[in-house]
Amino acid sequence: MAGTVHVIGAGLAGLSAAVRVSEAGHKVVVHEAAGQAGGRCRSYHDPALDMEIDNGNHLLLSGNHAALDFLRTIGADGKLAGPPHADFPFVDLKTGERWTLRIGDGRIPWWIFDATRRVPGTTARDYLSFARLLRPPRDAAIGDVVACKGTLYDRLLGPLLLAALNTAPPAGSAALAGTILRETIVAGGRACRPLIARDGLGPTFIAPALDWLASRGVSVGFGRRLRALDIAAGRIAALDFGDDKLPLGADDKVMLAVPPVVATALVPGLDAPDDFRAIVNAHYRVAPPPSTPEIVGVIGGTVEWIFAFPDRLSVTISAADRLVDTPREALAKTIWDEVAAVTRMADATAMPPWQIVRERRATFAALPSQERKRPGADTAYRNLWLAGDWTATGLPATIEGAIRSGARAAALAAK
Ligand SMILES: Cc1cc2nc3c(=O)[nH]c(=O)nc-3n(C[C@H](O)[C@H](O)[C@H](O)COP(=O)(O)OP(=O)(O)OC[C@H]3O[C@@H](n4cnc5c(N)ncnc54)[C@H](O)[C@@H]3O)c2cc1C
Repeated sequence: MAGTVHVIGAGLAGLSAAVRVSEAGHKVVVHEAAGQAGGRCRSYHDPALDMEIDNGNHLLLSGNHAALDFLRTIGADGKLAGPPHADFPFVDLKTGERWTLRIGDGRIPWWIFDATRRVPGTTARDYLSFARLLRPPRDAAIGDVVACKGTLYDRLLGPLLLAALNTAPPAGSAALAGTILRETIVAGGRACRPLIARDGLGPTFIAPALDWLASRGVSVGFGRRLRALDIAAGRIAALDFGDDKLPLGADDKVMLAVPPVVATALVPGLDAPDDFRAIVNAHYRVAPPPSTPEIVGVIGGTVEWIFAFPDRLSVTISAADRLVDTPREALAKTIWDEVAAVTRMADATAMPPWQIVRERRATFAALPSQERKRPGADTAYRNLWLAGDWTATGLPATIEGAIRSGARAAALAAK
């Protein structure tokens, strides 16, 4: 590939594209609108907590091969931490029951035949009744394919799919659910060991990527918001940044790795997801009791997942649009009461310093109707490719999807 590759957007999709193109020996320049890289996957100093936190707790699984490959390339492998096996502690706030789902390391799902390892109150037959989700009709909703009710759904399938799709599962895309199940639970415990960026998303994913790019002479310009694409003769002829315009040479290429609302405004005729779901995170500055697992699934409350860091407890609530207008103090208190019950800190009288972070457009809604709108990486323009968690990766909006999309755009542009 002669010429320069211009990557627009330094979220994970853009960084992944830039790393792969540069790795292949080509000249790359990254243009990012914000003052920092990382997009929806970033760390920042929070004044209310007076500590560095992430914009949202991000859970990866050991089967996220593109994300792990990316970390290896940028020299950050080993920065994701998690338990040695795919063990998931759960608490049911309504009944007070606690259990640990233990998905064995192998591919054969012996655990579903073992009452001490599967979800309490379920039988092996319950699991088989969800097998139809593994190869669903392309355009179906999950609720069209399986019954979204019963103990197994309430205690495992529902919470898992809600977290993965960030969309209420009955209406969610069965095709996306099928991919998630095939790449995780069905692939066995080695593929679904939970992994978290214990030192933060920035130090794990973003800073090492920027260092790697800098070491290869890739310039990353911040405050560089692309305002328009100049199009002539079926190709991108110039990048318009408002106060300056960058003409492109005959061999120059563009990878657009911006959110879908930005991409559709820039690229004529582009259709893309336009319905989004919120994620709410709550953070409490308190050292968790020593026995607190790193991740706990919570059933029967507002809280869905609790992440324990050495100096704080953080909560994730998916498809949380119903909570975006709840007063912050009330929400912080509701969530804290549940966190205190789960971590057995109920005797703690005062709520610790807290922060509520609401990302209104955290991800596109993983509905069949939105899935149909996801474009591939190729465009109608000869030197323009798309990347982003919202492009047609076959996965819901995730780190893994974003990183795969960047690598795929890089591979197509190299042809
Ligand atoms: C709260 C929250 C929790 C999440 N939890 C998880 C999780 O547990 N596990 C998981 O795998 N995923 C999770 N995700 C999803 C994950 O963060 C995203 O899928 C991923 O970060 C998307 O990366 P991206 O590069 O596609 O998009 P973005 O991160 O949105 O990057 C786009 C970049 O383009 C830049 N940009 C925009 N307009 C312009 C312009 N005109 N010119 C130049 N640059 C521009 C933006 O500033 C941004 O840096 C979560 C997301 C959120 C918000």
